[in-house]
Amino acid sequence: MNIEIKNVKIFNNISFVAHSARVSGVGKIKSEEGFRDPTDKEIFAMILENDYSSALEHIIFTFEIHGLSKGNSAELLEHRIASHTGRSTRYQSEADFDYTLPPAISDILNKYGLSQQDYKKMVEKGNVNLDNIEKKDIDILNLYSKVIHTSRSVYNSLLKLKVPKESARYALPFSVHTSYTYTINLRSLINLLGLRLCVRASPEMKCLASKIYLAVRKVFPEIDNVWCRGYNFAVCPENEVRDSPQGKDCPFKNPENDIFIPTKKHIKAGIELEPFNRKKSFKAKEALLKKWSEI
Ligand SMILES: Cc1cc2nc3c(=O)[nH]c(=O)nc-3n(C[C@H](O)[C@H](O)[C@H](O)COP(=O)(O)OP(=O)(O)OC[C@H]3O[C@@H](n4cnc5c(N)ncnc54)[C@H](O)[C@@H]3O)c2cc1C
Repeated sequence: MNIEIKNVKIFNNISFVAHSARVSGVGKIKSEEGFRDPTDKEIFAMILENDYSSALEHIIFTFEIHGLSKGNSAELLEHRIASHTGRSTRYQSEADFDYTLPPAISDILNKYGLSQQDYKKMVEKGNVNLDNIEKKDIDILNLYSKVIHTSRSVYNSLLKLKVPKESARYALPFSVHTSYTYTINLRSLINLLGLRLCVRASPEMKCLASKIYLAVRKVFPEIDNVWCRGYNFAVCPENEVRDSPQGKDCPFKNPENDIFIPTKKHIKAGIELEPFNRKKSFKAKEALLKKWSEI
């Protein structure tokens, strides 16, 4: 997928969160020398760990999202505690629109060592011509190509007939790219990442969330302590999903593993837990980030 996150800006930092916590009141912590005031980092870690999340709302991120499919952008906008300004298909021409290739298409292209650019060139010509490829695969490539090619041709013909963009846009496909300027506070971002950096999320949302995570990490390394909901709360609410085919890639679901995260069902059943291997969990998260950002 061609999602890009650009121009990430951060307003406020962990010191501001710590300051707000001190205004509220923060207890001293015990050390070898006796009781002392906690550092900014310690206060921030405590707020994150104990989920005193309203203080996290002081940290705000803005960034641009490009190359998200218009269809799947509905999933992003389900996150109501954020602000967005989207590309207008009423006022902007989509005559040269780019579009997302879903996994069903990119998997076929990868299977035969074909590049997305070469496929898109064939789509422009309206003819996917490939030798030595299974019939089912060529049929799928052709059907998808037909939709994009027809959609572009219909959209442009409507504009030539002086149909306004706001009407012509109904001929655009689900996969047409859109862009957003997006603003979200840290509390809401953690909620978004918790839901979308999960095996259950749709491929495009996993890709989007991974790219947001990677881009935000450059200005806010503390995001490293955040992952899916199970990771953030040390208990996964996806009781049934992890053991279904959808849960295949979850690195935290195996009770034999030292990065096992129990589900709520496990906790209620009184499962015994081994110590969690935090260092190893970082490796598992990096592997997923790589895999999902490259979907
Ligand atoms: C794997 C997956 C599958 C999904 N499938 C579907 C689906 O099939 N159909 C579908 O419609 N959606 C689906 N969703 C979207 C999901 O239901 C949420 O709308 C979306 O994830 C946004 O989450 P949120 O409400 O926590 O975020 P936000 O809207 O950003 O809200 C953040 C938090 O604010 C609070 N809040 C926000 N609004 C209210 C409110 N009105 N009342 C009380 N508290 C509020 C809640 O605590 C909420 O968690 C799916 C999401 C995921 C991750």
